[in-house]
Amino acid sequence: ERFNIIDLINEVLEMQEMRAKKQGVKLIFSQEDSNSIFVYADKKEIFQVLNNLIVNSIKYGKDKGTTHIEVMSMDKNILIEVRDNGIGIEADNLPRIFERFYRVDKSRSRNMGGSGLGLAIVKHIIDGHNQNINVSSNYGEGSSFTFTLNKSK
Ligand code: ATP
Ligand code: MG
Repeated sequence: ERFNIIDLINEVLEMQEMRAKKQGVKLIFSQEDSNSIFVYADKKEIFQVLNNLIVNSIKYGKDKGTTHIEVMSMDKNILIEVRDNGIGIEADNLPRIFERFYRVDKSRSRNMGGSGLGLAIVKHIIDGHNQNINVSSNYGEGSSFTFTLNKSK
């Protein structure tokens, strides 16, 4: 279906406002100049993608950290980035984080809760849309997740 991705991002941010506040993480959405960018995708599924990525950025963020959400409009696609300056992911673990049940450093993440399914679901949804998701991260510095969606007129 066709929907405004800017509105959907704002819905997710509203939903996670409390969690972010509790963790001392600031959520910042730089929405370019336009208030509407229309995409063609499954709205419920993309809500889940954004929600999982943003929850992770808060969970694995640092106190007084920041999550930036950015939307970049290209010719036929849009690119969405969820970037944090949190704990980061070691290069050795990076290739495995989209696997089901995979969690980095079990002892550390145990008390944060979670099943290791969030990113596997994200990957499954983006694959199902024939789109791409990428991650880059520096351990101790932060992580950036970017994915594409089909633009709609
Ligand atoms: P769930 O999402 O099912 O509640 P989870 O958050 O542990 O549990 P995923 O979202 O799949 O599972 O993430 C897998 C692992 O990747 C996490 O356990 C964490 O170690 C690491 N990870 C994910 N996102 C980030 C991030 N933004 N910064 C640092 N590490 C991350
Ligand atoms: Mg998660």
